Amino acid sequence: MYSYLLLLSLIIVFPFTALPWIMKRKSYLISEEKYEVRVMRGHSQINAFSIRGLRKGYIFLTESAASLDENKLKAVIAHEIGHLERNHHVKMALLMGSLITISMFLLLDGMSWVAIPVLLLAMLAQKSLSRKFELEADRYALRLVPCQDLVSLISSYGDREASILSTHPDVSTRLKNLNYNWS
Ligand SMILES: [Zn+2]
Repeated sequence: MYSYLLLLSLIIVFPFTALPWIMKRKSYLISEEKYEVRVMRGHSQINAFSIRGLRKGYIFLTESAASLDENKLKAVIAHEIGHLERNHHVKMALLMGSLITISMFLLLDGMSWVAIPVLLLAMLAQKSLSRKFELEADRYALRLVPCQDLVSLISSYGDREASILSTHPDVSTRLKNLNYNWS
């Protein structure tokens, strides 16, 4: 029983402790103000993500993302700042932690027929929340960069299609979310 609780706390604490440590070793620092912006060596895909550490937040860019033109690069960073400012990492960890704890207790009680649907539900909830967070981060980014720069970033690199299993909404949903007149 206690070993399950220990394992669970490790799962919840990992993204805030060991993950930033591991990712920092794979990247180099390019800017350090409120958040550390770092570039990951040897990644050719255009991608960016953020991690909340115990003391500060980190924004990681692939080398290709870091070499985007200045306006797009600022838009990428503004979107990631949105995730950090809105505490998306903490909210997600709390939701997933509670759902995993519930299914763990159900499993321990021999109610695997309930635990499995709860886990499936947890997976869908995680994807749905992730899509909601993407829209929130886009809206936050509007405080930091001109709408046009965000629109150009999303139109160039956003996902064309999305489903209930996607972590990101599709391009048209993201553009509508910015109240951008998209036709
Ligand atoms: Zn995002």
